[in-house]
Amino acid sequence: MKTKADVKAKAEVKAKAELKAKPEVKAKPELKAKPEVIAKTVARPKSKARVVDSPFKNFIPYEPKRGEAYMDSKQLDHFRDILLKWRQELMEEVDRTVHHMQDEAANFPDPADRATQEEEFSIELRTRDRERRLIKKIDQTVERIDKEDYGYCDTCGVEIGLRRLEARPTATQCVDCKTLDEIKERQLHG
Ligand SMILES: [Zn+2]
Repeated sequence: MKTKADVKAKAEVKAKAELKAKPEVKAKPELKAKPEVIAKTVARPKSKARVVDSPFKNFIPYEPKRGEAYMDSKQLDHFRDILLKWRQELMEEVDRTVHHMQDEAANFPDPADRATQEEEFSIELRTRDRERRLIKKIDQTVERIDKEDYGYCDTCGVEIGLRRLEARPTATQCVDCKTLDEIKERQLHG
């Protein structure tokens, strides 16, 4: 049963969490001003990733308190937040691609120019398709967070871990099971 004090304590924790979240909010307008920079960051190859190997950098790595239960409500909120921000970035990216294609669409008299543009567009369409699939996966993940069915390996049930989930918030398997599956996959098709 929840007492009044519990509710109050929870509210305070939430308020503190919100305070902590402020720096990232401040950083956002700066990012928004340079859409091409974001695009490059998203496309950055793994080798150049610094602190966290993650497609998005605008979050503070979660530091659990001593004795804090894995995937308690604060941790779930943290990952929901990351996923929703990532989703927003992807949506903006899709919009940019569409607008870019609309702006660039031109009838080049030279067949070579036309071919180049068609090639460019088909690459952009594939990127958009990939982004849409990713958005769908993010939505499914957020649904699982809402059902508090998040953060454990679908195959073996072990905790996936905060750091791995911050790098791959849509991960449904621990590193070991994922690696094993990839090896099996290669053997099957290799
Ligand atoms: Zn596993």
